[in-house]
Amino acid sequence: MSKSLDRFSHRLSAVFGLVFGSSLNKAHAQNKLARHIVALNGKTSAAEIINNVADCLKDILGYRLFAFVNKKNDGVDVWLDPRMYKTSIEDIIIRDFQIKDIKELTYLNIHKDQAECLERFSLDSLVHYDHKEKNCYSRIYMMPSRPITAFHDDVVRIVLQGATAALSKQIKIQQLKDAAAIDPLTGCYNRRAFEAQLKGHAAGAGRHGKSLSVFMFDLDHFKLLNDTYGHLGGDEVLKEVSRLIRRNIRAEDIFARYGGEEFIAILPGTDKTHAIELADRLRKKIGALRIPFNNRTIQVTASFGVAQLGRDADIVKLVEDADSMLYKAKVNGRNTVMPGLIKLHRYNIDKRSESLIQT
Ligand code: GH3
Ligand code: MG
Ligand code: MG
Repeated sequence: MSKSLDRFSHRLSAVFGLVFGSSLNKAHAQNKLARHIVALNGKTSAAEIINNVADCLKDILGYRLFAFVNKKNDGVDVWLDPRMYKTSIEDIIIRDFQIKDIKELTYLNIHKDQAECLERFSLDSLVHYDHKEKNCYSRIYMMPSRPITAFHDDVVRIVLQGATAALSKQIKIQQLKDAAAIDPLTGCYNRRAFEAQLKGHAAGAGRHGKSLSVFMFDLDHFKLLNDTYGHLGGDEVLKEVSRLIRRNIRAEDIFARYGGEEFIAILPGTDKTHAIELADRLRKKIGALRIPFNNRTIQVTASFGVAQLGRDADIVKLVEDADSMLYKAKVNGRNTVMPGLIKLHRYNIDKRSESLIQT
């Protein structure tokens, strides 16, 4: 970081030395830009970094920043001036960045409805600036309200360079965090990350009086499966089962590989009855999976244990409870969820069916 700051201050001095006649103005604008560049390096999210760029360009040049696009390995972040009509710039970004699927775009800020938007991008007056770092590529699109001078041009380039360096650093930090938290085979959280997440979620559930449950499952006869299809066949099953679960739980649920062929999920805001219902739906889906492997088709089943966090918010007990329920599911013949649900019909009261938990 200090190296890039050094680079910036050299360029800053050169630019301001050329442009500002009065030393008072020069010092004032130079301070402003230096402050913004230093602030960029302290930001910890892409949205914060880009907001800072918008403020900086407005502050120093009086320009509004209309759009900032940052292309990373795993998608494209877009920040739009809130006054901008989204569709008009989206077409330009899709064309310039050769976006195949709109899902590749992540909007970092909220923009208003078309009716409230004041401006449309017009291709004639649109200018853009690019900067590339090792792991990302940034572009600022602007519609300047007056002709761009050499000084303005240089300031935008310096700010863009600073922002891209900050984004690149932030992407690297995120990659390191992910590498420490993600199981490389399945792409799920690993056990360490699970434990950290459970601590946070359990504390949150306690504070807000919300329920929290976990389900744990273990693939049945996985040793036999490995012996039949080989270790690579087993790996394929672990990947497919993980993908299936991730597709079928909520975004706020945390799904982790607990070890070997054993997985666990945190379900915030979910009571035991709903957790059991979800676990049973997932159990059926796992059993229905047909996994192609080396011209053969692999099938697998799983045994589930479910538990809800008690009032004491004891997370060790929570995991032990889920584990002992999983053990019961194995003893009860596998491919099942424990506790199980019995459906009762209470016609005489309100004709609604009610689930009871069987342990
Ligand atoms: P049960 O129904 O009682 O769970 O029987 P099981 O055979 O699944 O249980 P066991 O604990 O005897 O075997 C688990 C197997 O999972 C043994 C181990 O080699 C295999 N395993 C653990 N991690 C991996 C992995 O990353 N890939 C593959 N292919 N196999 C794994
Ligand atoms: Mg097993
Ligand atoms: Mg096991």
